Amino acid sequence: MNRDHTCGELRRTDEGKHVRLAGWVAKRRNLGSIVFIDLRDRYGITQITFDETHSDLVKDVRNEYVIEVEGTVSVKETANPKLETGEIEVLADRCKVLSTAKTTPMIIADETDALEDLRLKYRYLDIRRNPIKEKLLLRDKVTTIVRKVLHEDDFVEVETPILSKSTPEGARDYLVPSRLYKGKFYALPQSPQQYKQLLMIGGMDRYFQIARCFRDEDLRADRQPEFTQIDIEMSFADEEDIFAEVEKIMKAIFKETKGIDDLEFPRIRYVDAMDLYGSDKPDLRFGNPMSNVTDLFKDSQFAVFRNCVADGGIIKALVFKNVSDKLSRKKFDELNEFVKIYKAKALAYLKYDNDAFSGSVNNALPEEEKQALKEALKLENGDVVLMIADKKSVAETALGAVRKKLGEELGLIDKNRFCFEWITEFPMYEYSEEENRWVSAHHPFTAPRDEDIDKLTSDQANCYSRAYDLVLNGYELLSGSVRIHNSEMQAKVFDALGLSKEQIRNKFGFFIEAFDYGAPPHCGVGIGLERLIMILSCTDNIKDVVAFPKTATAYCLMSDAPNTVDQDQLDFLALEIKEK
Ligand code: ASP
Repeated sequence: MNRDHTCGELRRTDEGKHVRLAGWVAKRRNLGSIVFIDLRDRYGITQITFDETHSDLVKDVRNEYVIEVEGTVSVKETANPKLETGEIEVLADRCKVLSTAKTTPMIIADETDALEDLRLKYRYLDIRRNPIKEKLLLRDKVTTIVRKVLHEDDFVEVETPILSKSTPEGARDYLVPSRLYKGKFYALPQSPQQYKQLLMIGGMDRYFQIARCFRDEDLRADRQPEFTQIDIEMSFADEEDIFAEVEKIMKAIFKETKGIDDLEFPRIRYVDAMDLYGSDKPDLRFGNPMSNVTDLFKDSQFAVFRNCVADGGIIKALVFKNVSDKLSRKKFDELNEFVKIYKAKALAYLKYDNDAFSGSVNNALPEEEKQALKEALKLENGDVVLMIADKKSVAETALGAVRKKLGEELGLIDKNRFCFEWITEFPMYEYSEEENRWVSAHHPFTAPRDEDIDKLTSDQANCYSRAYDLVLNGYELLSGSVRIHNSEMQAKVFDALGLSKEQIRNKFGFFIEAFDYGAPPHCGVGIGLERLIMILSCTDNIKDVVAFPKTATAYCLMSDAPNTVDQDQLDFLALEIKEK
């Protein structure tokens, strides 16, 4: 072994020991003829001191050289509070260079001004930096906790194929051409969804996998083309069982990584989340639910409100308390533009100050309507009311977006809090304008609510499902559902989705067939591991929590993937590249 201790290990109590350490030269300082070296490895940094008689040993040693040193542990006169090993130094008597290093293209330090592209190109150097290293260690800690909790509860870890068949998670597949079956392709799994359900039919009862998933979609700050899910499925179980298991995992993770043990998991139905917060992933670190004030204005003297209600629209109101001096006219103009992104026509506002109203609709609304609003919303001096009159879905989402934006801008979010909520009973379908048909809101194996079974093919718009999400601080952390476990119901759902018998057989034939041989009731979830680590480590850049991430254009700057291949390889696959 090159070492008998790590660079993060030695303390005052080791004084006098003769030790051997190995690591990278993080820093070298000369003080007259004495040389100090900060030696770094994964575990920390230890100061190595080469006195006059030994400084020759390191005369050629430069930053990032890998060296092995021996010496005696000595307690320092003045401790370095910045290092965990700061009370000691090692007085070196031997040094061996294990590997030399060129000048690195970026400084290896916690703070770096290196651009992200450079850090990604030299990711192995970036990983030497604490901010990246610590996130990888946290990720390992989290998956270890997950495995422990799930194993305790009889879940078994099963690997499912990467070379697989398309899974309907709604994204584009990554395809792998087959050499043996020319012209045919494997699809990389968007999730192990069908396999895990087949494992339930296979009687595995409780499955999990830290599963790689691949989706060829346009990337955003919180997406990568390949990512990891903590994928879980359980038999003879329903929402209550899966919620309990997930809550147990989250509690263990937050306790062991953050010391937090007072987590709560409120439940909100999808329709209520939309009604109160205008979002299916509301950030509950602050309150400010929206109110429905439609009834107050159905006979309004203000034509815009009255006509909106007459046309079947609604009027939503959102109150921010004690902020009237913080929101300027300019801000309201900006918000008025902002809501247009969400297809709302306009944002109305009222301020209540010194027992009087002002604001964009102050003149349009008669005094008694404003008084009624004041009473309904219990307005006090300093309050601001924002209102949108529009189609229900538009009013909800647009005002919900305003809630989120102002919540952040007004500093209402306590960044130290972790607020979970289960969102339940999602719609079964969504209408795709693009495809001109109903598509699954989750995936087509999701069971409908019992009370909505007869709406499966006749009233898709009002058919709700047994799909759920767990939301954390405004991020969707996981999705899952109780699954359909009989072929008849599955056939109905495919029918509602407009899939022909032929399409069903091609896409899911093997899967559907399995349900004819005895399927247990089952349910499950897929937890986004990267998102969880991002929230735990307070970063909003997914690349920070992935060892070797790709850029926003799905490119690996380090290995230059994707790349061209030899003509031979193409010939084997019987593939020809079309000129663009
Ligand atoms: N496969 C689903 C997803 O990736 C999760 C699940 O339903 O278990 O969102």
